[in-house]
Amino acid sequence: MPCRTSEELNELVEEAKKYTAEGKVADYIPALGRANPDDLSIALHYPDGRCISAGDIDKKFTLQSISKVISLALVLIESGPEYVFERVGMEPTGDPFNSIVKLETMGIAKPLNPMINAGALVVTHMIKGCSAQDRFEKLIQFVRELTGDQDISYCKEVAQSEYDTADLNRALCYFLKQHLIIEEDVEGLISLYTKQCAIEMNCLDLARIGEVFAMDGVDPLTGKQIMPKDVARICKTFMVTCGMYNASGEFAIKIGIPAKSGVSGGIMGSVPGKFGIGIFGPALDEKGNSIAGIKLLEILSKNYNLSMF
Ligand code: GLN
Repeated sequence: MPCRTSEELNELVEEAKKYTAEGKVADYIPALGRANPDDLSIALHYPDGRCISAGDIDKKFTLQSISKVISLALVLIESGPEYVFERVGMEPTGDPFNSIVKLETMGIAKPLNPMINAGALVVTHMIKGCSAQDRFEKLIQFVRELTGDQDISYCKEVAQSEYDTADLNRALCYFLKQHLIIEEDVEGLISLYTKQCAIEMNCLDLARIGEVFAMDGVDPLTGKQIMPKDVARICKTFMVTCGMYNASGEFAIKIGIPAKSGVSGGIMGSVPGKFGIGIFGPALDEKGNSIAGIKLLEILSKNYNLSMF
């Protein structure tokens, strides 16, 4: 079992922290631009309930693209894989997360996978409910169940800031609507999606979610099967093939842990059958992944032989 003490983890954080200087905080969502690029924190959540952490772990951040795994799990539970994969594909793109190009050039408007924005918008569109509010309520309740924390909410300021500037995501939606992949009002969908991306937590909560995926959908603390094993398996597979955007191949080779990142600097990791990881480090590399977060995972994976391959 890696890192028995927080002191041990702290040393690894100190080692990885120097890389924050090489990264840059995302500012295309203006509210995210206010994050402190020097921050780096990590939590590991083990099945026996133990949690080891280092850095300023009380700091909250928004999930951004990490939420794509959670919304995917929810729609897979609600509608099943057959329905979901008729509307979104299973293949990595090798393109940036917000790219529009393959929607047209592949000859089918169906997005290639649920981890790029186009695919995630289709997934959010699939969340069932009688109103946008009802659908968001369902999603946030699911996140509360996954974290075991009833106080989880979303950051209104970040949601609004993204809503005000989400024209590229609007463009993806209009393209998908024209091709009958989505049917709902685009503004309503963007509003729901930006709230989803603005769901806020600290890295302890994130590690706990990572652990549920690692443990095949079971919350080890309560013994409850929160999602079917098959859903957890599908989500972890996407985390390996597409979780770190167009850096997923290199990440699989160097680190070998199912993981999902977001432009706020969060990374959720799930070491299969072992433990969950939550990281927050807002300085990003050029592909939009936490630069020091990746370094930290690289050190952890190497030191403790965590690669699943
Ligand atoms: N909300 C962000 C967006 O849609 C999420 C992207 C990300 O974290 N990579 O642009």
